[in-house]
Amino acid sequence: MRLTVLGCAGSFPGPEAPCSAYLVEADGFRLLIDFGPGSMSALQRYGSLYAVDAILLSHLHCDHMLDACSYIVARRYAPAGPFPPLPVYAPVNAPERITAAYGGENEPMSIGDVYSFYALQPGSFPIGPFAVTVDRVNHPIETYGVRLEHEGKVLAYSADTAPCEALIRLAQGADVFLCEASYLDGVDNPPDLHLTGREAAEHATKAGVGRLLLTHLVPAWGSEALTHEAASSAFSGPIDIVRPGARYDI
Ligand SMILES: [Zn+2]
Ligand SMILES: [Zn+2]
Repeated sequence: MRLTVLGCAGSFPGPEAPCSAYLVEADGFRLLIDFGPGSMSALQRYGSLYAVDAILLSHLHCDHMLDACSYIVARRYAPAGPFPPLPVYAPVNAPERITAAYGGENEPMSIGDVYSFYALQPGSFPIGPFAVTVDRVNHPIETYGVRLEHEGKVLAYSADTAPCEALIRLAQGADVFLCEASYLDGVDNPPDLHLTGREAAEHATKAGVGRLLLTHLVPAWGSEALTHEAASSAFSGPIDIVRPGARYDI
């Protein structure tokens, strides 16, 4: 499978990066994981705007889902449309949240013509060619970490999370572990929200992953150098801080 980073800025867009969105492709199937602000622009650099076969939203914080609203316009009013509803795997209240964020007074109140929603709950299920496992992670709203398996290869994604055992299970033995590292080490960070670079690396070590990709750094006050240094102290394998446009064949 191939991972393309469309956006990776934590919490709000940075000068060079949209918010979280990751395109994962295998056997011609294109799964979009998270759809943060600005990432729809990047999506169009890597194929047709409409070449998305399913969307998975890890949680419904704005920085992970707002371009799912922009995408309604793109699909609903496409000259080449109408398209069949696109499967969206997301927390149970996604239809209400996305409808509320999208809707205007004279707009259709249903977005069922564009999306068909499947409520996430902890467990395993297929999406196209991927065997998907999701589990709740440690974040203030309902949030799912993700494990994708395809032809014996594993990609794990932390979503947004503070330290938790579920993340170690999801990432167990993963070839690639895409993990958030929002916070700087050595700072008095709020609990139960996010990981530091060192904490991400500790989870990677406990899970025995092959490669650690750090994401969701906050460009406005983060430090790639400090985050990489902190992570390197707790994980001996290869570590990258991802950038928009980065591609990884797994
Ligand atoms: Zn976030
Ligand atoms: Zn979040």
